Amino acid sequence: MKNVLVYVQHKGGQTPKVTFEMATQARKLADQLGGKAHALVVGAGSSQLAESLKAYPLDAIYVNDDADVDKYLLDPVIDYLEAAAKAIGPSLVLVANTLTGKDVAGRLVARLNAGICADAVDFKLEGGKVVAVMPKMGGAAITNCELLDGDYGVVTIRPNAFAAQPGGAGAAVQAIEKPAGKSYGVLVEKDVEEGSGELALEEAPVVVAGGRGLGGPEPFDTLLKPLASALGGAVGASRAAADAGWVPYSLQIGQTGKTVSPSLYIAVGISGAIQHKVGMRSSGTIVAINKDGQSPIAEFSDLVVVGDAFAIVPELTKLVQAAKS
Ligand SMILES: Cc1cc2nc3c(=O)[nH]c(=O)nc-3n(C[C@H](O)[C@H](O)[C@H](O)COP(=O)(O)OP(=O)(O)OC[C@H]3O[C@@H](n4cnc5c(N)ncnc54)[C@H](O)[C@@H]3O)c2cc1C
Repeated sequence: MKNVLVYVQHKGGQTPKVTFEMATQARKLADQLGGKAHALVVGAGSSQLAESLKAYPLDAIYVNDDADVDKYLLDPVIDYLEAAAKAIGPSLVLVANTLTGKDVAGRLVARLNAGICADAVDFKLEGGKVVAVMPKMGGAAITNCELLDGDYGVVTIRPNAFAAQPGGAGAAVQAIEKPAGKSYGVLVEKDVEEGSGELALEEAPVVVAGGRGLGGPEPFDTLLKPLASALGGAVGASRAAADAGWVPYSLQIGQTGKTVSPSLYIAVGISGAIQHKVGMRSSGTIVAINKDGQSPIAEFSDLVVVGDAFAIVPELTKLVQAAKS
């Protein structure tokens, strides 16, 4: 295994930011393995997306705007991936650990007769072999899984676990031919999008998270939501808040919750336990609002506002709203 191939999941050219995180990580892995970093982007909108991907440190981007990719359920994607991997030669394929990505990865390993590591948050190279680091049992255990000798390996990547860093000379964008002699049976008749209208926590550029210091469920709606909306962000929480039943577990950030990496993370009434830190440490700017200036979160925050959240957050929200208008 020398080269790295990133599967770019997207819809009409819109891709989750994990794609750019994988493109950055692909460069690092390819350099360590002595190979090249490639990406495959197929389906409507691919050429346009390939232009944005050029800002990341890849060597080559294979593209086809083939409308069949969106017309049929996943089969064309697997064919393209298999063809690209075989054209590149022995390689490590990176796929986002999303619902679609898991489906793609599971089918690809069967095609390539490859090993798979799921939900990686880090990599090590030991004796030239790729070792994926993955939290298991809801984060209570960390496993190190080595991909055995073989031509191919597939790893699914947890969103927000790696930083996305533009750079590089600008990858060569190359057309990839549609795999010949394929016919597809499962047609996508209708694409139904279910959404709450709120920004997904993992994709939000700003996260305002609350903890036990908020004392109950109401402040999440009355205090945090207005600030998050004013900043164009989403609300998150510590496990203490989720365990108390103040917010659903889908908002929990940390070792046993979600991993986020927004440009701005505001922690309100959160002490900064290590299990919380691992879910938000790669955020751009970290601001803590806490009564206690000595709270552990102060050690890894860029700015600590010491005081009562109930006095500070409404004033901050007003200032943001005023600045925006
Ligand atoms: C296996 C395992 C997995 C875990 N996974 C996670 C996880 O995924 N995510 C997670 O978050 N935790 C996780 N935890 C729990 C973690 O160890 C902490 O217990 C938890 O993060 C604490 O939440 P907190 O910061 O909200 O509460 P606390 O630690 O109680 O902190 C509350 C903070 O609020 C401040 N405060 C109080 N009142 C105010 C006020 N009016 N204004 C401003 N500040 C105020 C206090 O000074 C304090 O710093 C895990 C633990 C274990 C053992």
